[in-house]
Order: sequence, then C-alpha cells, then structure tokens
Amino acid sequence: MSALDISIRAQIMNLLRDIQDRTGVSFLLIAHDLAVVRHMSRRVGVMYLGKLVEMADSDELYVRPLHPYTKALLAAGAPIHPAERDKETILGGEMPSPLSPPSGCAFRLRCPMAMARCSEVAPTLKSHAGHLVACHLHDDRSPDAG
Ligand code: SF4
Repeated sequence: MSALDISIRAQIMNLLRDIQDRTGVSFLLIAHDLAVVRHMSRRVGVMYLGKLVEMADSDELYVRPLHPYTKALLAAGAPIHPAERDKETILGGEMPSPLSPPSGCAFRLRCPMAMARCSEVAPTLKSHAGHLVACHLHDDRSPDAG
C-alpha cells in the first residue's frame, strides 16, 4: 500500500477492517510501514533475513519490544532527533545476503548487543507469556511451559 495516495490507503485499510469485523476473516498483512501494521494488526511478527525473530500481540510488541532489531525498527520510526537516539537502537553495517548468512544469529553483524555466543549458536524462538523472541539476551528468562 506504500505507493498509494494516503486517502486511498486509508479507505483500503478501513475496508479491510470492515470486512474483518463483519466476517471474522483473518488477514496476513506483509508491510514495512509500522504505523499501518499497528493500526491493522492484533498480532505482529517481525522478520529479519527471512526468519521470524519476534512475535507478540500488537499492543505488547509496540510498548515492550524485546528483540534488538524490533527496537531499532521502532526507534527509527519514532519522531525524535537522531542525536537523541539510544545507541542500542542504532544499526551499523549492511543487510547480509540470505544466501550466505552469518554463523549463529543472522543479525549479529549489525546488533549493538551482540556477544560471543551470538556467533556460535543460532537463537531459537522462545515464548515468554505468549511473547515470542529469538535472542540470546532472553535465554535466562524462563520460557512458557510446553
Ligand atoms: S542473539 Fe545476539 S546478535 Fe542476535 S539479536 Fe540477540 S543479542 Fe543480538
């Protein structure tokens, strides 16, 4: 929808929500516009290099992001001066090729929080009270049972 005029975009979003309210249908929305995603979604998944790195209910994810990539995405969209940004949310480097991703965590070459373990072991998605995240920073938190 990014190429659409803003009023057309709003009409389409409202139409989709109306269809959903009337029929109960689910939509899978793939988008880069974080404001659109927040407006349209009850549950949000964040992907990096083709893999899901975080998923949570929309309100939870936007208020309490856990993955460094999600934090950087949300900070990049926030209306603050770049000089005031937390250094933990500023990404360096380039997106690696998905054909030859880095060892361990695919995000590690750009992650301001990377540590030795990140190059050795690929993190897996773990659920913490329904909030899924794939990051070694959260390995010590106890995941949901089951
Ligand atoms: S696993 Fe390591 S490199 Fe990957 S997002 Fe977490 S801290 Fe950063």
